[in-house]
Amino acid sequence: MASIAMMLSLFTSFFLLQLSDAQKSFTSGGIEESSILTSHIQSQTSPTSTIIEPVPSQSSTPSENRAVDIFGTGNYTVLDIYVSGGQEQSNGCNATASTYVRTVAYTVTPHGNAVIDGDIIVGTEADILNAAVHPSLRKRSSSIVSNAPQKWPRGVVLYNYQAGLDKKHIDYFQEGVKQWTDRLPFLKFEYSTDRNARTVVASDGNRSPYGCCGGMIELCPGCGNTRSARHEIGHTLGLYHEHQRPDRDLYMTLSCPGGKCNSVVIANTATFVGTGMNWAGSYDVNSLMHYSLSGSLPVGSKWYDFDFKLIPGLFYKGYAELPSRLDVQRVCELYYEDCHSICGDGIFSPGYGEECDDGNNDNGDGCSSSCKKEACVPTCHPSNHECGDKASCTTFDTSPNGLFPRTGQTFCMCEAGFRGTGLDRSGRDQYRVEWENRHGGQTHRVFVKPGQACRDVCSDIQCSEVPIKNTCR
Ligand SMILES: [Zn+2]
Repeated sequence: MASIAMMLSLFTSFFLLQLSDAQKSFTSGGIEESSILTSHIQSQTSPTSTIIEPVPSQSSTPSENRAVDIFGTGNYTVLDIYVSGGQEQSNGCNATASTYVRTVAYTVTPHGNAVIDGDIIVGTEADILNAAVHPSLRKRSSSIVSNAPQKWPRGVVLYNYQAGLDKKHIDYFQEGVKQWTDRLPFLKFEYSTDRNARTVVASDGNRSPYGCCGGMIELCPGCGNTRSARHEIGHTLGLYHEHQRPDRDLYMTLSCPGGKCNSVVIANTATFVGTGMNWAGSYDVNSLMHYSLSGSLPVGSKWYDFDFKLIPGLFYKGYAELPSRLDVQRVCELYYEDCHSICGDGIFSPGYGEECDDGNNDNGDGCSSSCKKEACVPTCHPSNHECGDKASCTTFDTSPNGLFPRTGQTFCMCEAGFRGTGLDRSGRDQYRVEWENRHGGQTHRVFVKPGQACRDVCSDIQCSEVPIKNTCR
C-alpha cells in the first residue's frame, strides 16, 4: 500500500512500543492476545521507524492447517539496524567481520528480550534501539548482537534453569537436547552457574539467541509446536534460518493471500547476506531451521498467513520435526575440530591430544592407532596443511638418513588405494612406501607434493604402478 508507506515515511518521530503487564501470552488451548499497542513519541534524534499497520481484512486466528513458527506479542516495530558480523574463523585465526545493515521487525518478549526473524533473541529493546540506523547514532551503534555468533568452546553448551522451572519445560528442553546429542555425540550440554551459561526460561513462545554465550532460551511447550525446542537449540548451537539465506529466492517465492505481504511478515522471513554468516552448501528445504512453507504470523491482534511457493523439482517432506542430515553436517562443520576429534578420522585435532591423524587406527604406518607419531616416520609438521583432496594432512618434512627420497621437502600421504591425480608414473611427483598395518596386511601409501589431489584409484591395493621407494624398513 504505497500511500501508507509514503505517509509513514513522513514521520520523523519514533514510536516506542510500551509493554504492559497485561501483555500476555497465548494459551495452549487457543490464541489469545490481550495486549493493546500503546505508543508515544520519543525525541527527534531517534531513528525513523514504522509502526506496523493492521489490515482489518485479516483473520484473528491462524487459518487451519497452518504451522505457527512464530509466537509473540504481535507488536512489532520495523527499522533498519546495524548488525555486527561477529568473529570469523579463518585459518585458525579470529578476524572481526564488518558490520552490515538489515531491515528487521522486532518484538519484545515478556522477559524483555528483543526478538527478530520470529525467534532470534538479539538483546534487549535498548540494545536494538541503540543499533538503529540513523546518522546521529551511527558512531555509537555497531552491534546489537552482544553475543555475536560464536561457538561454544569445545562444543560444550552451558545451561541452567530459571528458578522454579517446571518439569514440563525441563523435559521439553532435554528432549530437544537429546535430538542433537544423539546425532552428534561430541556435543555436550552441561548444567552450570557460570555467567556464560544460557538460562532456560518459561515463556509465551520459543526463542533463542544464536551461538554462544549467556542470555536466555525461551520455551513454550504448550505453544503447539513440538519441534520448537530443537529448533531453538539449533540457534543456540549457532545455526541461523535456512529460509533467510541470500539465495532463498532461487528456490521459492514468498506469497501471501491476496498477493500482498505484511511488512512484518516480509522482514521476519527476509533474506540477507551478512558478513560473518556462512550460508554455504546446498539449500535444504527440509532443514529443522527452515520455517514451514505455510505459516501464520501474529501482527497486532491479527494473524497473517504466508506461503513459500517452491520451484518445481524441490522435494519438501513437510514440516521438519528433527534435525536434517544437512543440519547435523552443518553443526559438525561449525565445530569442525570438536566434531572430528576422533582419532582415525583423518582430521588432525591437536586440541584433543592428537600428534597426527592419518585416517585410520593402524599402528606402524607413521601414525599410531592412538594418533601418536611413530618413530619410523620423520618429523611431522602438522601446521603445513596444504595437502590435496583425499591426501592426509600428515606431512613429512625431513628425511633422516635418506630414508625418503625427497629430503627437505614436504610430502603428503594419499589415502590407501589412491594415487596422485593425473600424475605420470615416473616417480618424479609421487612415490610409494610399503608397510604392514596392524591387521597384518600390506598397505602401501603414495606420497605426493602438497596441494596435489589424490583421487586416482590405484590398480591394486599396493598401488604397484607407482614407483616404490620403500626404505622405511
Ligand atoms: Zn528460528
